[in-house]
Amino acid sequence: MLTPKEVSQLFSDSEHLLEALAEANALTLKHHGSYVTLERAIFLSWWCSVASCAFCYMAKQKEKLREAEKAKRAPWRILAEAELMRRLGWEVEFLSGGYGAYTLEELRLLAEMVAYAAQSKVWLNVGVLNSEELEQFKGVVEGVTGSVECVSKKLRSEIVPGKPLAPIKRMLIEAKEMGYATGITIILGLGESVADTYTLLELIQELKLDRITIYALNPHRGTRYEYSPPPASLYQAGVIAAVRTSFPEIKIISGTWVDQLPNIGIALLAGANGITKFPLFSMFGTRHGRKVEEEVRHAGRKLLGTFSDVDVLQGSKSLEPERDPRRVFKRSPPEISQEAKERLEHFKPRVKEAMTEYVEKVLKKY
Ligand code: SF4
Repeated sequence: MLTPKEVSQLFSDSEHLLEALAEANALTLKHHGSYVTLERAIFLSWWCSVASCAFCYMAKQKEKLREAEKAKRAPWRILAEAELMRRLGWEVEFLSGGYGAYTLEELRLLAEMVAYAAQSKVWLNVGVLNSEELEQFKGVVEGVTGSVECVSKKLRSEIVPGKPLAPIKRMLIEAKEMGYATGITIILGLGESVADTYTLLELIQELKLDRITIYALNPHRGTRYEYSPPPASLYQAGVIAAVRTSFPEIKIISGTWVDQLPNIGIALLAGANGITKFPLFSMFGTRHGRKVEEEVRHAGRKLLGTFSDVDVLQGSKSLEPERDPRRVFKRSPPEISQEAKERLEHFKPRVKEAMTEYVEKVLKKY
């Protein structure tokens, strides 16, 4: 793992940054190959019982939402998204949102149905779960995510007061002991200092994490970050390179919003294996979607899935097997309960309708 001095040099000396990028690039190719996955979180609801994170759009929404029940997304729309993502070769980064909106039983059923539709076990990012609750997801959930967002104690108490770190750590330790993969999410640009990158490395080491998502801040209207600039591309690359050179095996997903697409190439060279945070249906097939593909190509990586092939989106053509992450990573489809199968059958006509609606939405922009 890098030392505090080495971490600080990454952000103060361009020679060090360039050396770290070269090392990170070599380590990524050696340990992960050249594949890059397109990742996307599937939101379960617009409700969040925490609703106090200073950067979050959902926290603002809460003021308008009275009941958790009404903020839940229709299950067939969630499933339509999952099916289209499977068709396009996108990965379900995790099921997220909906803290406090669903019962455990409802969450388990949703996880089963999404895993079946996506033909891949899913990750969860639904708040802190204890070991009894985690037990319910065996067989259908691959990994558990803690949304840490930032590691500085002081900053955490100000901007994520409703998500103390200790219970998140406890959940991730228990989940790991139970055989789940574990990961965290971090947002850069919240006001953290360069020294926090070393604290982040310590946390990854302590929790033996398998995956980390490193988002660049997307300043939302109405939040305290509305007028903040997103973090510099080379800062995000430096953090990713620090993680990659310290932990060659970890999966790194880099989150970049639509106005920061040129950051993708450098994030990949720095060690990212996956990219996320794109509005799939409004970007697919547009110049923005194709720009993402170009960024990956020019970083010398192979993109799994498509962001532009409308025939694949419409289902008139299948994704080439060599671009399908389920085939490339040789995943077996998850086992799901009879109850989940019956629900899927029941929702089938509405899932189909929602898929047609999503595809038409894309075609209108194409
Ligand atoms: S817990 Fe997640 S959804 Fe809820 S306010 Fe915080 S960031 Fe937003």
